[in-house]
Amino acid sequence: MNLPFRTPAPAPATGCTELPVLRERGQREVFCGLTGIVWLHRKMQDAFFLVVGSRTCAHLIQSAAGVMIFAEPRFATAIIDERDLAGLSELDGELDKVVSRLLERRPDIKMLFLVGSCPSEVIKLDLKRAASRLSQIHAPRVRVLNYSGSGIETTFTQGEDACLAALVPFSPLPASGTVPPLLVAGALSDVVEDQFRRIFAEMGLGNVAFLPARSSRDLPPIGPGTRYLLAQPFLNDTARALDERGARHIPAPFPLGAEGTTAWFAAAAGDFGISDGALRAATEAGRVRAKLALKPHKEMLRGKRIFFFPDSQLEIPLARFVSQELGMQPVEVGTPYLHRQHLAQETGQLPAGTVVSEGQDVEKQLDRCRAAKPHLVVCGLGLANPLEAEGFTTKWAIELVFTPIQGYDQAGDLARLFSRPMDRQMRLGV
Ligand code: SF4
Repeated sequence: MNLPFRTPAPAPATGCTELPVLRERGQREVFCGLTGIVWLHRKMQDAFFLVVGSRTCAHLIQSAAGVMIFAEPRFATAIIDERDLAGLSELDGELDKVVSRLLERRPDIKMLFLVGSCPSEVIKLDLKRAASRLSQIHAPRVRVLNYSGSGIETTFTQGEDACLAALVPFSPLPASGTVPPLLVAGALSDVVEDQFRRIFAEMGLGNVAFLPARSSRDLPPIGPGTRYLLAQPFLNDTARALDERGARHIPAPFPLGAEGTTAWFAAAAGDFGISDGALRAATEAGRVRAKLALKPHKEMLRGKRIFFFPDSQLEIPLARFVSQELGMQPVEVGTPYLHRQHLAQETGQLPAGTVVSEGQDVEKQLDRCRAAKPHLVVCGLGLANPLEAEGFTTKWAIELVFTPIQGYDQAGDLARLFSRPMDRQMRLGV
């Protein structure tokens, strides 16, 4: 199949500022930022995540990440029981002991994250100070950092944002006289990272680094002269930390589907002065493969209406993908938080009439969803079962985060996540 190739045009500069957005601040139904540990511990192979929290936190990550039978886990919870302010100093000592025992037993750990949570005892603890104290005690073998995954401060994917933002200040500065690598920020599965690295190399960009790196010893140099692409749409604090380091964001859509992935690479090519010919040579085969993989799903999904509840901040790029590449009609696209600049090239491509909502007032949103009668609802686990009971076809949003969906060779898998529930419903004759 030969597809016309074109360098995707950037979104109009005004698109992001003119987008009408329905803002809601009511009851929310989302996971907290601890959930990010599930994919971060797989990505950062010599890191350990120690949640300082309650039994609820321990249950959450244990059930979300599953029990590892053959491997030593790389996350745990230090359970903090209720105690008054007078007991806080002894809590510091207990934390030091837990960390020392852990590091003695696990010489493979090179980076330790102390992850904060909601209980008031944890909020009172100064985890930043604890991390710096423990870093000194265990230097140079282990670096100890901290971030918050608390449900009061973070939703679902913001845990990754907080974790990566905590990493940035510890990156080395680029050596003087050297050109820093192109930085790709956002945790990607290893298979996607390898594919992207190959395509960048074919384009002529051999010097590319990823944040987070697979090994804590490979933190990429970041400083003035660094240019970065976001691979995930929920990295607001990380982007701010990179900007503060002097790095520059390359505006781009997100690498989902044939068009999104091509436009993402094209943004890097444009910024580095790479020719259309070199871009095409590196991306065309993948783009054709992706288009072919999308075809059967498009036949099933074309014209179907879809409603996104806010969950992971991936909703807007996903709505762009399903409308542009699968012919679906987004009715409402909810997102917990809308970063207008980072998402400008995605919102600019949503079909006219799509309602974009930010934040949540869950009962009102459920009413809008019922009134719209969409063919497919993408939502969190807590809403999926009641909506299925009312006759809606649903897709668990969490699957879209846990599955490798970025890049050309994952485009078919991404489309299948939307077509499978529709297919199931059709087979059931509902
Ligand atoms: Fe722990 Fe708070 Fe998350 Fe509940 S919402 S699991 S208490 S961090």
